[in-house]
Amino acid sequence: MTRAAGTLRGVEPTVTDIEVDRQRAVTLTFDDGLVAVFPLAELRALCPCATCRGWRDRGEEPWPRPGTSPELSILDAELVGAWGISFTWSDGHATGIYPWDGLRRWFEARPSG
Ligand SMILES: [Zn+2]
Repeated sequence: MTRAAGTLRGVEPTVTDIEVDRQRAVTLTFDDGLVAVFPLAELRALCPCATCRGWRDRGEEPWPRPGTSPELSILDAELVGAWGISFTWSDGHATGIYPWDGLRRWFEARPSG
């Protein structure tokens, strides 16, 4: 088994298993065996939709917004084709689609890795 440094270019990661703990975290198992855990708060703050990107572009956290509840859970999760997943959050937000490759890159780049 070979391990390449960083993400292999041109290879779309595939997820073979998805575990959604609606109160805590989403766990993805990639087809090369990598298991990535995404705590809900980090996943919510990572939302790739245009609205949340706008907040980040202004140097602000897309979540939690001032005056909103810091409590967070997933009401629903839905696969998007073969390339990603979308969530309906307890704060009503549901527009972000998280592609597998983006999640994987983010997981590999985070300091606690
Ligand atoms: Zn968003």
